[in-house]
Formats: sequence, C-alpha cells, structure tokens
Amino acid sequence: MDYYIYTNWKAGDKVDNKIHHWSCGDCRMGLGKHRNATKGENGVWIGPFTKRKQAKEFNEKYFTNIPIVNCKHCNKK
Ligand SMILES: [Zn+2]
Repeated sequence: MDYYIYTNWKAGDKVDNKIHHWSCGDCRMGLGKHRNATKGENGVWIGPFTKRKQAKEFNEKYFTNIPIVNCKHCNKK
C-alpha cells in the first residue's frame, strides 16, 4: 500500500503539501483527479512511498518551508 505527496507549486495560497493513499480519489496512483489536465501545470505528485512516515520525512527534508498534512479523504488508510 503506497503513499504519495501532492505539492501544488502554483497556488498562491499554498500552505501545505498533502499525503495521499494510492487509492484516494484525489490521487489515483499519482495520476490525479483531473485526468485531462496538463501534467505538472499546477502541482505534481511525488512517490510512491511504502510508508506514510517516509513521505513525511521526504517532505521535511526537501520542503523545509512547507508543512505536510494528511489528506482528509484517505487519512484512515
Ligand atoms: Zn487523499
């Protein structure tokens, strides 16, 4: 069961990155919910990570100014 980080690098009000479970409707194994959107235009998926903890550690190392939070939709998985 894999996890992905989503970072929206275009949004002006961007305050955090989110960890998603691969099966999350927002994530779909890194494809995202906007199937026809230009990839990487607004945000990018990073992953997969085997453990949620790994995604957290990656974020702390490479996005030192952006906190990581769990997606509200798939937080339980
Ligand atoms: Zn999610």
